[in-house]
Parts: sequence; structure tokens; C-alpha cells
Amino acid sequence: PGVLYLCATPIGNLEDITLRALRVLKEADCIAAEDTRHTRKLLSHYEIHTPLVSYHSHSSESKEEHLIHRLLQGENIALVSDAGMPGISDPGADLVRQALQHGIEVIPVPGPSAAIAALVASGLPTHKFVFEGFLSNQRKTRRKQLQALRWEQRTMVFYESPHRLADTLRDMLAEWGDRPCTVARELTKLHEEFKRGTLSELVEYYNENRPKGEITLIVGGLPQEEAAARQQEKWADLSLTEHVA
Ligand code: SAM
Repeated sequence: PGVLYLCATPIGNLEDITLRALRVLKEADCIAAEDTRHTRKLLSHYEIHTPLVSYHSHSSESKEEHLIHRLLQGENIALVSDAGMPGISDPGADLVRQALQHGIEVIPVPGPSAAIAALVASGLPTHKFVFEGFLSNQRKTRRKQLQALRWEQRTMVFYESPHRLADTLRDMLAEWGDRPCTVARELTKLHEEFKRGTLSELVEYYNENRPKGEITLIVGGLPQEEAAARQQEKWADLSLTEHVA
């Protein structure tokens, strides 16, 4: 069979594509794209003429079958999303699973991802982090999701839409108390901007200044001291129950 390549593409700056990704896109038999019109712009910029086929989150199973069939016939297919790494808050994971089930080789061609770019420049600890992607757009569900992260000690990475940012920051402050936070906006683009501060500072700022563009949000985990204090409380509770028993 052929190979399924997962090709990272730019998240804003057309120069952010690797030499290898360009070669793979050029040499592949076909490029499966989340949005063919979007990807066509990238391809024409780099004078790549590989045929495109659409593959997005609403693609039917038969679309997947079609791609698997072509891979099994020996075609090499490069999967790309609109921006960044396919499969990261983007379609791809299902196709990868199916390809592996059919014994098809899956090869990543790494490159930009907004999550990693925002994290490394955030100033928050990077040695351990969790990627949370998009929170629910239902207020109640979002609050529940935030509650579930109350005791998370690792740095947290979220994708967020500009019109929900202020609300999300406010909800985070309400659920977690104040924390260090970085808002990375329009990464790699002309108006790239980082706002670093605390949740309360950023709530205030974004209440006044409604943001535009694409946003990745990085928030500090539960501080070590608070985690230790909580652990102490748990131990105290435990010895109390043992005593009673
Ligand atoms: N697969 C992509 C990746 O690897 O980065 C993410 C796709 S997800 C559908 C799109 C979201 O990623 C945006 O809504 C935004 O939250 C974040 N994002 C993408 N490009 C960005 C950029 N240039 N600056 C900040 N955040 C960005």
C-alpha cells in the first residue's frame, strides 16, 4: 500500500512550511484537504499542482473508505488541514485510525501548531502541559469542564474564539481563582500579539478591548503550594475517617 502523510501547514505565515512538507506535497499522488479552496492558495504560492480531494469533519464514511481504498491501491496521500497540524482540533484522527487498521503506514511531517507556538512563548512552565483544545460553547458545560480542571497542576492550553475570550477568562477566574495567563493572538501573522498577566488583569483588559483574530490561551496550573495544602487536607480527612472506623 501507499503511505498516509500528515503534513503540517502554516498557521498564518506562509513561510512556516518545511522543505520536507513541500516535497511531500509535490510528490504525493493526491492531497486530502480540510478545505480545498484554502489549501489551493498555499499550493499555488509554492507552485504545487498535486490533485486535491476534500476531507473534512463532516466527510462521510465513504469518503474515508475512498481514501483508504486509494492508499491500498498504492497511492501516497498527504493529509493537510487549514492550518497547523492535522488531527489537532482538526480532522485526521479517524483517518489515521482506519489507515493503521488496514496496515497502511502513517508518517507525520511535523511543522507549526498554534498550541506549541503559544506555549513556548507564554512564559509559563512547559515541562508538563495539557492540551484542552476548544471548550464547549455551551456556558453550563464549559463551567463543568473548568470545574474538572480545578486541581490540574500542569500548564493548560486552550483554543478559543475571540468573541468568547472575555467570558472564558472570567469563568476561569471564578472557578480557579487568580492564575498567570497568556493570550497569544494572531501567531506568526502581521498583528501577532502576546498578552501576559493574571486572569484578573486579562479579564479587565479584554472587557475593555474586545479582541479579533485567532486566539490560543495558556493558563498556569494549580500552584505547587496549593496542591500541597490540598494534599495535607486530604490526609487529615483520611486519618479522621480511620480514627472513626
Ligand atoms: N490544527 C491546528 C494547529 O495545529 O494549530 C489548530 C486548528 S483549530 C481548528 C483552530 C484554532 O487554533 C483557532 O481557533 C485558534 O484558537 C488556534 N489558532 C490557529 N491559528 C492560530 C494563530 N495564528 N494564532 C493563535 N491561535 C491560532
